[in-house]
Amino acid sequence: MRFAVFADHRLGVLDPDDPDLIVDVTDLVPSPPYGPGGPLQRLVETGRSIVPGDLTGRPRLALAGLDVGAPLPRPGKVLGAPVNYRDHQTEMREEHSIADLGIFLKAPSSVVGPGDVVELPYLDVRTDQEGELVVVIGRRARHVPVERAMEHVFGYTCGLDMTIRSTEDRSTRKSFETFSPLGPYVVTADEIGDPGRLDLTCRVAGTVRQQTSTSALIFGVPELVAYASSVMTLDPGDVIYTGTPAGVGPVADGDRVEVEITDVGLLAVTVSAAGARPYAERPRPAATAVAPS
Ligand code: MN
Repeated sequence: MRFAVFADHRLGVLDPDDPDLIVDVTDLVPSPPYGPGGPLQRLVETGRSIVPGDLTGRPRLALAGLDVGAPLPRPGKVLGAPVNYRDHQTEMREEHSIADLGIFLKAPSSVVGPGDVVELPYLDVRTDQEGELVVVIGRRARHVPVERAMEHVFGYTCGLDMTIRSTEDRSTRKSFETFSPLGPYVVTADEIGDPGRLDLTCRVAGTVRQQTSTSALIFGVPELVAYASSVMTLDPGDVIYTGTPAGVGPVADGDRVEVEITDVGLLAVTVSAAGARPYAERPRPAATAVAPS
């Protein structure tokens, strides 16, 4: 199944027989209203599954005419994997990898959807794209061993882990508003099978910047889920950005950024500098008065 959230809080499944059509299954989602998490969050947390038989006899809508948003607009947790590809470790001249850096958190309020705008915060500090495979947690996970980790995965989507290159802590650099594009679909784990065999391509303004196979991940999906669950409880609907390969670089006003992953989808956003300001103008304490001599 490929789930999409459209027209704010409608849940759709891409028609298996015609990918240009979407089947509205909103009325199968338990207990509306859904709140900021939206209908897919509710579906996942209630454990309700949608089966092919649920799609028969329902009206089909043309996907092209729909406003598709982030499939999970406000996850409970947005986790990230730092330095999880060797080629990215090399390009960043980074001594450490995920094996000794662990995981980080991005603000759930930074999530946006396909076609949305990534807002550059600063005029004079680089903002880079990081194209990534994103895991969606399906079942609560705590201290899950690697060999059982996949039982806790609901599915996958495409993500951009936008990042400023500055001295701030990772969670600050990656938590600016609009810095976590997700979508357009969540593809269920059964459709993907092994998530360690997917090709990922990221383009900026039409130029390929990143190309990899998820087989090159240092911590693959099972290891990531197991490790993250050894730190904190993973809840249904939580998402994990799995890390980015080599080829990160600055994005600029007007750029279209695309991440495309085999069998998962193609996520595109645009970049705007409309609200960017000089780094020196960020809020901070007034300069300390010079002490009298
Ligand atoms: Mn990243």
